[in-house]
Amino acid sequence: MRKQIAAANWKMNLNADEAHQLLTKILHTKLALKPGQEIIFAVPFPYISMAVKKCAEHNNVFVAAQNCSDKTSGAYTGETSAIMLQSVGVQYVIIGHSERREYFNETNEVLAKKIDQCLSHGLKPLFCCGEPLSIREEGKEKEFVAEQLKQSLYHLTADQLQQIVIAYEPIWAIGTGKTATTQQAQDMHAFIRQQIELKYGHHIAQTISILYGGSVKAANAKDLFSQPDVDGGLVGGASLNAEEFITIIQSL
Ligand code: PGA
Repeated sequence: MRKQIAAANWKMNLNADEAHQLLTKILHTKLALKPGQEIIFAVPFPYISMAVKKCAEHNNVFVAAQNCSDKTSGAYTGETSAIMLQSVGVQYVIIGHSERREYFNETNEVLAKKIDQCLSHGLKPLFCCGEPLSIREEGKEKEFVAEQLKQSLYHLTADQLQQIVIAYEPIWAIGTGKTATTQQAQDMHAFIRQQIELKYGHHIAQTISILYGGSVKAANAKDLFSQPDVDGGLVGGASLNAEEFITIIQSL
């Protein structure tokens, strides 16, 4: 069976005390995770060690970085390598979030290198894909996402691909309050799975978790997660509120 995942993406929010309080509040709640369910907290870099320590006390709760370098080590001021992240106990790294693609000019090619860095150093990439509004309005969203998958993932072996979690995040739904309908999410998730099947075969495609992201909240999580190809969510804004995120976890 595929893993079901509720992943929090805190982005560039919260000070150290707020981060500690939010995590404590969520982890002190009886979350009653079922086998195969995971929670991931993608926290800002300065809070990673704190989060690793707290999450290590719980089964199936992991810490993600929100980015890593495409380089291995050396004179790259301001960068953080996959090796460093692995050495402080990080398990996942968000790769290719649309904000990284848009504001930091990360191309599919650079993202392929970041994925390689993660996989070479024992980290699992949480790979984001998704189309802007203009592409959806033209009806070309499937071609667009297929190209993102092809350019950043298809150089991987089947064993490597099985380390990846995919997040489909339509850009027009991120931080806008405008969620994809359950049907739009299911359609794209089924399409992504079908693309993986074409390249890697049925068995592998069935094992890959595909999360939905874009204005997931307590009120819509259950409907979204009940779709057959939606294996959880990558949650931004609503993950900054303990009650909201707990309800989202309980909707898995
Ligand atoms: P949102 O962000 O839940 O605030 O829309 C999701 C994301 O960017 O991962």
